[in-house]
Amino acid sequence: MSSDSVKASDLLSLVIPAHNEVEVLGQTYQRTKSVCEAMLDRGIDHELVFVNDGSTDGTTELLDHLVERDPHVRVVHLTRNFGHQAAISAGLEVARGDLAVIIDADLQDPPEIIPKLLDHWQQGYQVVYAIRKKRKEWWGKRLAYRVFYRILAAISEIEMPLDSGDFCVLDRSAIDLLNKLPERQRFVRGLRTWIGLRQIGVPYDRSARQAGTPSYRFCSLVKLATDGLISFSVEPLRMTMRLGIMGVFMAIVLGGWVFWAAFYDQKTVRGWASLACLVLLMASIQLISIGVIGEYLARVFLEVKGRPTYLIGRVSEHHVGKAKETQTPYPLMDRSLKNTGTGT
Ligand code: UDP
Ligand code: MG
Repeated sequence: MSSDSVKASDLLSLVIPAHNEVEVLGQTYQRTKSVCEAMLDRGIDHELVFVNDGSTDGTTELLDHLVERDPHVRVVHLTRNFGHQAAISAGLEVARGDLAVIIDADLQDPPEIIPKLLDHWQQGYQVVYAIRKKRKEWWGKRLAYRVFYRILAAISEIEMPLDSGDFCVLDRSAIDLLNKLPERQRFVRGLRTWIGLRQIGVPYDRSARQAGTPSYRFCSLVKLATDGLISFSVEPLRMTMRLGIMGVFMAIVLGGWVFWAAFYDQKTVRGWASLACLVLLMASIQLISIGVIGEYLARVFLEVKGRPTYLIGRVSEHHVGKAKETQTPYPLMDRSLKNTGTGT
């Protein structure tokens, strides 16, 4: 499809999750806005959907100010900090566009490459995800991400693209499918791959954060990685079984040797060290097994509780002429309502 054949009324929703980003948000608005305005020539209108994920640093006021100034800005204020993945999900639920772009507020994903991503969307791809060629972060974090994506690709049940984050273009069909998924521990980039459709990856250089500090601390990155690995693979559970089987074989071999030594090798010192090692080994395997089962159990527990992924406190957006605030337009984004599998 060429850009000429795009109908003039295509609406692009930029979904921008923000948690304590007051230092960079002005710049984010400027840069995304100029990219969006340039896209008007291609027949693509825009809305900027900021998701304020429980910020406490003036982000709230700044976003409300943007709504006053620009009718294209809509802001979803979550009632507290629900986390990056929940914030993206909230933005996608509220987005009205024919297509959406998910982009971080800290400008690590350069908005200037959005037109390039849209070229692929116009060629008929329903999901266009950006692949990080280079990351401008300290080597430890880069290494951790590299290892994580490779483990995920190796053990996941679906073919996960390497080094692709949440920065992507989603067609309306992909947005609707993602919104319908009832899962609560959402690992958006995994779900995005899982839904299928026509997908393509586009390489880009990931910049350093333009200002402010990352909200993802080490613990939250570990949690994100765990969510990704456990939600998309039952390998850890199978690994326990394999460890158990290996342990049994080792015990049989060792037992055989003990018998052999008892009858034929009178000189063998009957040491306690090997016994202690064996006990330790078996105890460790049991502990690991219980830990893995606990992880899955925790997820079953969380899903069974049926809590929504997020709660929206209010949405502020422009209504013909003046900024207006709706208190509870989406009182409860309850995914369980859509989950026919769980009943009422
Ligand atoms: N973010 C969010 N909620 C959170 C943590 C982060 O909405 O609880 C947003 C944050 O404002 C940024 C994006 O998610 O726009 C990515 O976060 P961050 O830069 O801290 O992560 P990193 O780039 O280091 O992975
Ligand atoms: Mg960042």
